[in-house]
Amino acid sequence: MAPERWLFWHRRDLRLADNLGLAAAAAATPAVTGLYVLDPAILSDPLMAPARVWFLCQSLRELADHWRAAGSRLLILQGEPSALVPLAARAVGAAVVAWNREVEPYGRERDRQVAAALQGQGTRVLVDWDQLLVAPEAIRTGAGEPYRVYGPFLRNWRGQVEGRAGNLEPVEAPIGLLDLDPAALPAEIAPLWAALPRLEVPPTAEELGFRFAGADLCPCRPGEAAALAQLQAFADGGVNGGPLAAYEPGRNFPGEAGTSGLSAALSFGSLSPRQAWAAAQGARALARSEEAFRSIGVWEQELAWREFYQQALFHFPELADGPYRSQWRHFPWDNDPARFQAWCHGLTGVPIVDAAMRQLEASGWMHNRCRMVVASFLVKDLIVDWRWGERAFMERLVDGDLAANNGGWQWSASSGMDPKPLRIFNPFTQASKFDPEATYIRRWLPELAHVATADLISGDIAPLERRGYPVPIVSHKVQQARFKALHAALPRG
Ligand SMILES: Cc1cc2nc3c(=O)[nH]c(=O)nc-3n(C[C@H](O)[C@H](O)[C@H](O)COP(=O)(O)OP(=O)(O)OC[C@H]3O[C@@H](n4cnc5c(N)ncnc54)[C@H](O)[C@@H]3O)c2cc1C
Repeated sequence: MAPERWLFWHRRDLRLADNLGLAAAAAATPAVTGLYVLDPAILSDPLMAPARVWFLCQSLRELADHWRAAGSRLLILQGEPSALVPLAARAVGAAVVAWNREVEPYGRERDRQVAAALQGQGTRVLVDWDQLLVAPEAIRTGAGEPYRVYGPFLRNWRGQVEGRAGNLEPVEAPIGLLDLDPAALPAEIAPLWAALPRLEVPPTAEELGFRFAGADLCPCRPGEAAALAQLQAFADGGVNGGPLAAYEPGRNFPGEAGTSGLSAALSFGSLSPRQAWAAAQGARALARSEEAFRSIGVWEQELAWREFYQQALFHFPELADGPYRSQWRHFPWDNDPARFQAWCHGLTGVPIVDAAMRQLEASGWMHNRCRMVVASFLVKDLIVDWRWGERAFMERLVDGDLAANNGGWQWSASSGMDPKPLRIFNPFTQASKFDPEATYIRRWLPELAHVATADLISGDIAPLERRGYPVPIVSHKVQQARFKALHAALPRG
């Protein structure tokens, strides 16, 4: 008798290796078919960044190859998942559809609908967590509440992760799968197969109506092979003195390649968090210096930040709609459109801010230190609602992720869960500490390459040297005082 066929539905887990849902399917039957649905609700979202569509399409190409190499195939369909996943299950005669769970409100609602439709037609559903080292339901305070504060979350998270070390070993990609034979499908389901809106080859971003010109500049490389290579190059440095071994303080300097560049891979799931964790443990086992141990620990904490924001969004989906602290709903923002546009296009006259926004525009990515600097500048110097910045980031970021982006913006705006009430970055001090040679500023503002380092850092550039570069559109000192006064007048709570 032919083995039972299963469908595995990829969403934000674009890999075959260490994919827990896929591994569960392949353990049950060799007859597994892959599925990816190009969802119009996601692709026509006005916040969809061309960089993300590029990353997705490139990753799908490789994923389709990997499915073929594993002996089966990846079906790529275009349309509404709640209609297409049940249809695909019937068209291939699948008894079970498996997938990995998500934290975003849209994905959770979509999955509820798909699961209901599948169960309604008698197809079984298998779902579990894959994208987190600790599932959101498995991490609670002593009082049984979800965590609102990162510090205690980290302690619990680290305890659980270290306690489960053996269970976090990445699992191998499946091999020897059995493909379906469309010509041999029973007569009653053959018409369903014919009706599937299948794309024979994965589309390009251009075919989906997106153009991303920054692929060569983007540090995030699509596909699981590239993610693993990037991870290895980053973490093997733990032994050989490369980026991970010097992550603290190297991660703070945007002019250096001191971070992993793996954010898009983790967001699209071309890399798993267990693979990232295992690489950190490999580096830990071989590390010899205090700096290397400290650096590895700090990188692990960044993986924990990722999970903190995901569990926060899972438990508090209202975060997606606005400020966590309710008094921020009443903040009297200036919301000056011209200033906002100047910020978006790197024309504020503050070099470190403009360099960062140009990096984002050109490459689809921005260094974390600079994300904090530009977010603080938009909110606290330009007095623009942080949700404008949150959207502008989503429109551009290759790693744009609702949980991390919303978390980062609420942290920067001081409207989020973080207990620290007000955080204001001085962009000039930040530049002097973290870009002391102005390497980063010169790289992204080449028109200012001739300007003296001290002037690039202070923003105090002589008129003749500006060559069209704007004077600062606001005074940090004046705006900081204004912002503090507006904040002080907010209702408490
Ligand atoms: C305003 C703002 C918006 C942000 N928006 C996003 C976003 O949309 N998507 C996104 O992935 N990250 C976001 N971040 C977090 C962080 O800036 C990026 O994850 C990081 O710059 C990615 O670079 P990397 O892969 O080299 O990170 P590394 O320093 O190598 O860190 C390893 C991984 O840890 C995770 N990570 C690191 N820092 C954070 C953090 N502060 N919060 C959550 N996860 C983190 C990422 O998955 C990252 O790939 C945002 C931060 C701020 C301040």
